[in-house]
Amino acid sequence: MYGSRQCLRPGCGVIAEATLTYHYASRTAWLDDLEGDPDPVTYELCAQHADRFTVPIGWNREDRRTSDAPVPQPIPTAEELLDIPLAV
Ligand SMILES: [Zn+2]
Repeated sequence: MYGSRQCLRPGCGVIAEATLTYHYASRTAWLDDLEGDPDPVTYELCAQHADRFTVPIGWNREDRRTSDAPVPQPIPTAEELLDIPLAV
């Protein structure tokens, strides 16, 4: 359902996975899972830029995404790391 919606950060272009919504009156910014339909009042960001997103002093940052729940991952061994192709 994500289609080809891309992160709006200039120069990124990664598939968007989160939406960012501002509410100036309450000085709050929300990060949510990407919804089905593009909303003109939200910004769409890739997971990395959503994670890096920070709010101005005095604002609240509420991350309501469900897809970034910590997932236990096995620590790769040195051998497995060497098997990862280097993306250059
Ligand atoms: Zn991005």
